[in-house]
Amino acid sequence: MINEVYDLAIIGAGPGGYHAAIRAAQYGAKVALIEKESLGGTCLNVGCIPTKALYASTKLIQQIREHGEEFGVSCELKTNFSNAVERKNRIVRELVDGIAGLQKSWKNDVFNGFGKIIGGDINNGFDLAIEGDNGEKTIRAKRVIIATGSFPKLIPSFNIDHQKILTSSDILHPDFKEIPKSLLIIGAGVIGCEFANIFATFGSKVTVLEYLPLPIATEEPMIIRAIMNKFEKSEIDLHISQNVLSIEKTANGVKATTCPANIPKDEIESIEKKVFEADYCLVSIGREKEIFNLGLEKLGIETVRGAINVNPDTLETYVKGIYAIGDVTGGLMLAHVASYEGNVAIANALSSIGGFPIKPATTDYSVVPATIFTSPNIGSVGIRRAEAKEKNISVAMGRFTYSSLGKAKCMGEEEGFIMILANKENGKIIGASCIGAEAPELIAEIALAMKYGLTAHDIGSVIHSHPTISEMVLEGAEDVFGMAIHRRGRPRFV
Ligand SMILES: Cc1cc2nc3c(=O)[nH]c(=O)nc-3n(C[C@H](O)[C@H](O)[C@H](O)COP(=O)(O)OP(=O)(O)OC[C@H]3O[C@@H](n4cnc5c(N)ncnc54)[C@H](O)[C@@H]3O)c2cc1C
Repeated sequence: MINEVYDLAIIGAGPGGYHAAIRAAQYGAKVALIEKESLGGTCLNVGCIPTKALYASTKLIQQIREHGEEFGVSCELKTNFSNAVERKNRIVRELVDGIAGLQKSWKNDVFNGFGKIIGGDINNGFDLAIEGDNGEKTIRAKRVIIATGSFPKLIPSFNIDHQKILTSSDILHPDFKEIPKSLLIIGAGVIGCEFANIFATFGSKVTVLEYLPLPIATEEPMIIRAIMNKFEKSEIDLHISQNVLSIEKTANGVKATTCPANIPKDEIESIEKKVFEADYCLVSIGREKEIFNLGLEKLGIETVRGAINVNPDTLETYVKGIYAIGDVTGGLMLAHVASYEGNVAIANALSSIGGFPIKPATTDYSVVPATIFTSPNIGSVGIRRAEAKEKNISVAMGRFTYSSLGKAKCMGEEEGFIMILANKENGKIIGASCIGAEAPELIAEIALAMKYGLTAHDIGSVIHSHPTISEMVLEGAEDVFGMAIHRRGRPRFV
């Protein structure tokens, strides 16, 4: 029996779904938000937020360890991972409760249960079944947004048992409070590198195995070199170009067997293997999209390589009236991209119903900032130098180091640099990469400049407060045309 008719039903309450629910309510829509686990999704519960809460603990430890004496703070430094996890758990709880409060304040109906589309069409509305602890309920909605996200990839030969061989969700479990003596991390992407920094700082002997010839391979080569040097200093043992063939539990822990990544499949058996052992293993090799049992096949919603296929401009699936956003689609797997896509899907869904004060929208992915919370932090946006070369764009680069900046010196944050790329022909900013203190925050200014077509001169003409880390952007932009004040003289480029 259909009890309610909503303007919009959203399946999944991660940063895609819960943002979209609030945005829709802001335009006056009647919204049902369906979540099978915890509000906030991967991001709040087992992703962005818990990792950054733990990162904040490591930052404090590193500050005291590296600068305590010099800054006039003498203490016997003792770390307690269990306390850091408790703090992380509290932050997650508070934010999840905050989201529940926000949904309530916008009068959105939140259903706890597994959501599935069971039928319908754009003319008559869609029926959704919600299976929860208190049985099944059915609702009807004029439009549906699928925002079901993703989960850690499970590879059979990696024998993930969630006890010793772990996913990122396992290692971020509220009860995982013990620091392993040694930790093997499979995958040196963003997530693997962030965990390497956290656990090495708390005292684990960390070994990272990566298939590619470089960690965080999509970043600028100079940034990658800087983080590799830092890993070496931090005694994080990084092994690149390693094909992990299997992971197994042993009497004392775990072992991973590898061979060089360039060995063809039919020669693997005969080649000599390497074995890496540790107490625990974290597998962070990517994520799978949550597309199962949603009723996609019955409705004819297409998937391509495990992702829901959407019109990339409107985010509508190829079934009219049903949209998909965030990790479950084939795009960038970032929380802020999921939220942004929510805005676009809401604009299109509500304007297609009519009567809401909103116009249709199309996606624009030309400026997507990305951040990595290693020590130091990394932030990047726009294109890299290699890509500019491929596209035949003539580039002027500004570069500025933290060690030349007054505020960075005061903070003891002299490590790292910013590089800003501008199109030599028109001076417009086309990308930037930064490694160092507050890099993710600095990149936000560049993203704004790129979005509105500003030039390096435009950034240079803005008064930046002194002394601040934001002056890294000012000096980096001025250096694009050879006029950074705190950089040794070099030929001026206008
Ligand atoms: C360790 C880690 C660190 C990360 N750090 C960052 C970072 O610093 N910055 C960043 O931008 N991104 C980060 N990410 C990625 C980010 O978490 C995801 O890109 C983001 O959460 C995707 O949002 P989403 O709404 O698409 O999906 P999700 O956050 O995965 O949410 C989907 C929700 O849908 C629910 N659901 C699924 N199926 C159903 C169903 N049938 N019925 C009801 N509910 C359902 C799930 O339970 C889940 O709550 C990180 C990820 C991980 C794993």
